[in-house]
Amino acid sequence: MIQIAIDGPGGAGKTTLSKAIAKKLGIVYVDTGAMYRTVGLYVRDHGFAADDVPAVCALLPEIHIEVKFEDGVQNIYLNGVNPGDRIREPEISMYASGVSKIPEVRAFLLETQKEIARKNSVIMDGRDIGTVILPNADLKIFMTASPETRAKRRYIELTEKGQQVTFEQVMEEMMARDAQDAGREIAPAVPAEDAVMYDNSGLTFEESLESLLVFIKEKLGDKLENL
Ligand code: C5P
Repeated sequence: MIQIAIDGPGGAGKTTLSKAIAKKLGIVYVDTGAMYRTVGLYVRDHGFAADDVPAVCALLPEIHIEVKFEDGVQNIYLNGVNPGDRIREPEISMYASGVSKIPEVRAFLLETQKEIARKNSVIMDGRDIGTVILPNADLKIFMTASPETRAKRRYIELTEKGQQVTFEQVMEEMMARDAQDAGREIAPAVPAEDAVMYDNSGLTFEESLESLLVFIKEKLGDKLENL
């Protein structure tokens, strides 16, 4: 079994790169942000604010999140229904960030995340994977890029999905969310002490993927061969 932890702010390319690496290595890709987004969606749909701690905690027992890997893709089921792209709405990004500050919400998702990594070789992306979820990961990468690069990627991603947003809105929301995630008391989005910093600002997706694969193979060589 191997564990690769990928942390970093939004728009750093964690999801697309981790997905592609998982496919190349034949391991499972786990998107932990999607789990926080699912909780955020449920809270929004029930008309509560993300910072209404008593209300969010009272909703938790009603939330059943199942993570299934179908055709190599992670699908999340919220009380039996796959919310699909609804969790990707920009509003839900802030809801996810809001609820993720609540210790009860983190505790609620922690075991699901750890269990997946106990049962599978994984590349898991999030904000606290190297620091909290997989402290003994074989490799920890903290992925980032300049704010302009990240906002541009997020903007393209959202507009391609038909979301009505401006670049300025995306940049503003991204900076607010980064500050909230990095500055929170519990599991702040900071690099683990033993994480390798990886800035892919000037690189295309293909260039990043290639350099990461070379790096991962160099670091994990024997372990990858014995999968
Ligand atoms: O990665 P993504 O942008 O989908 O994550 C949405 C939000 O969920 C983040 O802004 C962060 O607040 C929260 N999150 C977290 N811990 C993780 C993954 C995501 O707090 N491991």
